[in-house]
Amino acid sequence: MTVRDIMKYIESEFKIINHTPCEICGGDYFAEDTHIAIIDDVPYDLCTCTCSNCGHEKTFEFSAPFLENKQSRKNLN
Ligand SMILES: [Zn+2]
Repeated sequence: MTVRDIMKYIESEFKIINHTPCEICGGDYFAEDTHIAIIDDVPYDLCTCTCSNCGHEKTFEFSAPFLENKQSRKNLN
């Protein structure tokens, strides 16, 4: 996995967020916070987003295979 591949993943995550309308008012989400979680041994990038219009919060889940090595080190700490 190269840096370019990782950038592609992150880019596509932001594309999905940008193209998902708020389920309450149809406004645009913006990413507030991201963190990593392991679900069934698969690393996920959890992105907390807030609607810029009504403030509704939504968490986007993206599988993040490129984070696997980093994450296993983190878990040991
Ligand atoms: Zn909204």
